[in-house]
Amino acid sequence: MPRRRRFLLAMLKHETNTFSPIATDLQRFRDWGLYEGEAVVKAYRGTNHPIAAYIDLADAMEAEIVSPVAAEAMPSGYVQREAYGYLTGRILGAARDEGPFDAILLDLHGAMVPEGMDEGGEGPLLSKLRAIAPQTPIGVTFDMHGNMTQEVMDNADVALCYKIYPHTDMAEVGRTTARIIRRMIEEGLKPVISWGQAGILAQTLRMGTADEPMKTAQAMTHEAEKRPGILAASVFGGFPMADIPDAGLSVVVVGESRDAADRSRDEIMAYCKAQRDEWAYRHEDLTAAVGRAKGANDFPVILLDHADNVGSGGSSDTMTVIAEVLRQGLDGVAVATVWDPAAVKKMSEAGVGATLTLDLGGKTDMPSIGETGKPLTLTGRVKRLSDGEWIVRGPMYTGSRVTSGPTAVFETVGQGGGTMQIVVTSLHHEPWDLGIFTHIGIDPQHCRYLLLKSRIHYRAGFQPLAKMTVTLDGTGVTTSDNRILKFDKIKRPIWPLDA
Ligand SMILES: [Zn+2]
Repeated sequence: MPRRRRFLLAMLKHETNTFSPIATDLQRFRDWGLYEGEAVVKAYRGTNHPIAAYIDLADAMEAEIVSPVAAEAMPSGYVQREAYGYLTGRILGAARDEGPFDAILLDLHGAMVPEGMDEGGEGPLLSKLRAIAPQTPIGVTFDMHGNMTQEVMDNADVALCYKIYPHTDMAEVGRTTARIIRRMIEEGLKPVISWGQAGILAQTLRMGTADEPMKTAQAMTHEAEKRPGILAASVFGGFPMADIPDAGLSVVVVGESRDAADRSRDEIMAYCKAQRDEWAYRHEDLTAAVGRAKGANDFPVILLDHADNVGSGGSSDTMTVIAEVLRQGLDGVAVATVWDPAAVKKMSEAGVGATLTLDLGGKTDMPSIGETGKPLTLTGRVKRLSDGEWIVRGPMYTGSRVTSGPTAVFETVGQGGGTMQIVVTSLHHEPWDLGIFTHIGIDPQHCRYLLLKSRIHYRAGFQPLAKMTVTLDGTGVTTSDNRILKFDKIKRPIWPLDA
């Protein structure tokens, strides 16, 4: 009887905003999701994650699964050394002590920066795995916002990323990785990786795949994958809020031959470079933009507070945009989310129906951009309280149980009687699923304005409702304005910093 195959599966995901003041410790991974051993398969089987596709592959090949860890934290500042050491230690320990394996399949982000490791967290992990298991196929599915490095490319057999932003194709792309790895095992396929960096620091706000230039860039990857000899083609938009040498846009093509892979890479790269002006954000004055939203007559209108996007490392508690919306008296506004555990505690002590005055938000100082936290004093009513937990039914993270911690709805009134309901959370949470509102009794369909601290991921749940979207330039460490951020370590020249 042949030996049963064995796969090492692991997830380790963090998008590190090196300008963010929010510490990324092990607890932050626990807050979003940290599973070990058999709990990994239990948590992710059948969900819309790359690791779910790996579990399916193991099942299809009747392979035994060793799953030391699956951990993801919401984007924030540098990953603390202890957390990085513990999580990578689990993966490396399994590779060393529980092998040999027929494949190592990883679900990584690609923009993790541990303290003191400006080369990023993924390259060193992969090179250590390669040293432990030199002959074992290593396949990695990355986020589209990964900042790729030579060390990653040198130590992975398969490297590719999501093609849709908002990332509703996580499991689908994981299936591509799984298919290539299966061919390596069964057919002895030996993929080559061709890659390159564009020298462009693209803005994530410009990477939505419904819009240009990313729409065509991703269409080109699909086209390339239909050609003989091409296994997978990826455009990594990169993550621009990272002052590390390798931040920026890159193209990665996995092929059966060097020539074919290089050709596709060069074509896609030429397009990305030719579009360089389109990867940059254009500023609009906040007062004027809110005024434009106020004039809308088809609802709901999405108001994007994109400079304070949790999903890119924002503190989710800057109040600039909320203050301006109240000042201009927009009516029927629902906000997701303001992070303020102390305010939630006060509201839960006061109880539903109580009226109180809160110094809401503004609890986080942001030394990297010279800002201190500025709360907004508001009087209003506690409308609802919840434990913040629900299961995602929308297209992103489908099937996952998520939590925003103890959560409350605070209802207040702006100029001229405009009403606003604010979802206040105890954990940082980017609103990309309707659940953030519906779990606490707000029907977003019937709000006139949905003020979201998000950038592109909101489209997963909210785009079908949106009659209009207005991008608002507020305050925060996820600003799209490079003039506010100070870059010291990024490789120069890079466009548009050196435009
Ligand atoms: Zn991403």
